[in-house]
Amino acid sequence: MEPEERVTRRPLERELVSRGVRMTHQRRLLVQIIQGADGHLDAIALWQRARSQDPTINKVTVYRTLAMLKKYGLVDELDLMHLEGGRHYYEAKTTRDHIHLACLKCGRIQEFESSLFEKLKGQIEREQQFRINTVRVEAGGVCDRCK
Ligand SMILES: [Zn+2]
Ligand SMILES: [Zn+2]
Repeated sequence: MEPEERVTRRPLERELVSRGVRMTHQRRLLVQIIQGADGHLDAIALWQRARSQDPTINKVTVYRTLAMLKKYGLVDELDLMHLEGGRHYYEAKTTRDHIHLACLKCGRIQEFESSLFEKLKGQIEREQQFRINTVRVEAGGVCDRCK
C-alpha cells in the first residue's frame, strides 16, 4: 500500500488578493482558519473557531465568505459520505486532486493522492471530450486503526 501523501493547499489569501477581493479583518481570519485546518471543517466548526478569536463575527459572514471562496474555485465542498448527516465540509483546494477515505467507524478522513487518479481524469477528458473542473471521489470503509 502506498503511504499517505501530503498534499499542498493553494494560498487562499494571496489568491483572493490577486482577484481584487478586499481582505477585511474577518475574511482574513476565516481564510487563515480554513488554510491552517488539519481536517475538513463545516461552516459551524469554522464559525466556532473564528468566534474564539473575534466574538463579533456572525454566521452570515462565514457563509458569505465560503460562498465567495467557492465562486472563485478556491475551496472544495464535500459531504464526506454523510458521516455526520447533511453537513458540508470545506477545504482549501489542493494543487492536485485527492480522494477522501472516510472511516465509518471513527470518522477519520484520510486524503489519498495517486498518479493513477490523474491518468483516469485524463482518460475521461479524452474519451468523453469532457473538461473536468472539479472532481470528487470518496470511499467509505474501515481505517487501519479501526481494523
Ligand atoms: Zn477508523
Ligand atoms: Zn481533502
